[in-house]
Amino acid sequence: MTHPVLTALGLTELESGTYLGSSQWSTTRDAGVLESISPTDGSLLARVQASSQEDYETIVERAQAAYKVWRTTPAPRRGEAIRLCAEALRQHKDALGSLVALEMGKSKPEGDGEVQEMIDIGDFAVGLSRQLYGLTMHSERPGHRMYEQWHPIGLVGIISAFNFPVAVWAWNSFVAAVCGDISIWKPSPKTPLSAIASMKICNEALKAGGFPDIFFLFNDAGSDLAQAFVDDRRIPLISFTGSTKVGRMVGERVARRMGRSLLELGGNNAIIVDPSADLKLAIPAIVFGAVGTAGQRCTTTRRLFVHESIYDDVLGKLVTAYKQVEGKIGDPIDPANLMGPLNSRDAVQAYLDAIERAKAQGGKVETGGAALDRPGNFVLPAIVTGLTNDAEVVQTETFAPILYVMKYSSLDEAIELQNAVPQGLSSSIFTTNLKAAEQFLSAAGSDCGIANVNIGTSGAEIGGAFGGEKETGGGRESGSDAWKAYMRRQTNTINYSDALPLAQGIKFDL
Ligand code: NAD
Repeated sequence: MTHPVLTALGLTELESGTYLGSSQWSTTRDAGVLESISPTDGSLLARVQASSQEDYETIVERAQAAYKVWRTTPAPRRGEAIRLCAEALRQHKDALGSLVALEMGKSKPEGDGEVQEMIDIGDFAVGLSRQLYGLTMHSERPGHRMYEQWHPIGLVGIISAFNFPVAVWAWNSFVAAVCGDISIWKPSPKTPLSAIASMKICNEALKAGGFPDIFFLFNDAGSDLAQAFVDDRRIPLISFTGSTKVGRMVGERVARRMGRSLLELGGNNAIIVDPSADLKLAIPAIVFGAVGTAGQRCTTTRRLFVHESIYDDVLGKLVTAYKQVEGKIGDPIDPANLMGPLNSRDAVQAYLDAIERAKAQGGKVETGGAALDRPGNFVLPAIVTGLTNDAEVVQTETFAPILYVMKYSSLDEAIELQNAVPQGLSSSIFTTNLKAAEQFLSAAGSDCGIANVNIGTSGAEIGGAFGGEKETGGGRESGSDAWKAYMRRQTNTINYSDALPLAQGIKFDL
């Protein structure tokens, strides 16, 4: 029987994974099938027909044709298209939030929150459509004017991870759309239904509003088509969200063809708790950061540095809080549960392997550390002590709820340790000491793309630019001026005089 959440969104047990444009979904039946498996009980939610090479070619050709029209559509009019998408998402928030929870395994409030992020970035993009500002400069030559304009870049390829199956697409595609670009999306094979539902909601709203196709979708049964996508010179920008391992390869291949890539890769995020910290704020922030989404956020708190004077107190409070979470692990659709399953059996194995490696490297498991003996991919959130920051397992992002707790004695030392990992996504300090907060945020402080004071590492508002340094890839998405990644800058000089003075006073007498 079709799951009621799928029915509510008009999805069936066999869906096409390819949106070809012109309200057409591909009828390809011989390019493989993706199975969407519930992480909660291992049941088959639905099957999705993968895309063929021919489908891919049709999409790229139609996207190129659509771009010719969209690039000269006035930007505020493009904003109106995204306003309609955000309105449609408001109407479907409950159902789409449930589907995200069902298919990815995050809790229902987090699933709804992800759809809210789509709505928020939609609203942001509408305002942005009237604010794609360039600068004017003073020319060094009389009778000349200089200015810069931002033009659309063309086709934007979006490859997304399973853990934010819908918001990452909206962050990219809504901003790209107001910039005048057409986007083509290849979602994670673990969450194809969330992608199909999002496309249906937005494309139907665009059609009803009389807008052309600006969003396309394909699903790859393996990685051949995705690889061809990365190498495709017709796609000037590839925005990739996923692991550092795959992202490194994507970045190298796109660079080889002189394309642009926007990389949002793995994190290894830390919180510092200094002696002045307000633990009423710090403890819940650490627990949400480490356990929320079952540790499957790029911004999940994975390392904790606690000042030696409060270490025992903080550790004791965390273990108590974790025991409370243990009683609220279960079906993510049930709003009473705080933690759902890991997304796959492989993720459970990766969690168990990391616990074994942590023990072998000298770690002590203070709580958790085991899989639950019930259907689905459930594990107990773990706290591990006794390791140093340079232990292999601490240096590695394991996409699961494992928190490594370490002691420090000076803030300089804590900041140095927090920075001493290959990744550079999110970081925070809990302190009521102004000097400590400012040191942490200074040029000699955190080296991450995100640095917070008295809030945790996990989650971010859409208004800021989101992304990280080092092996996190250096990309920035979402708010602030992240839109510039989706446009090309053009510098224009206009001579309105009767002379032809050359720059730098050069003479060229004919
Ligand atoms: P993943 O790297 O396994 O997959 C990401 C995407 O890459 C998927 O769509 C996958 O199908 C695709 N892919 C795989 N092989 C490919 C190839 N050869 N060519 C092109 N595409 C290919 O990552 P995941 O397990 O889905 O997601 C978890 C990872 O994503 C974690 O490391 C997490 O930190 C990271 N992440 C980062 C951010 C961020 O903003 N920094 C956000 C979410 C997730």
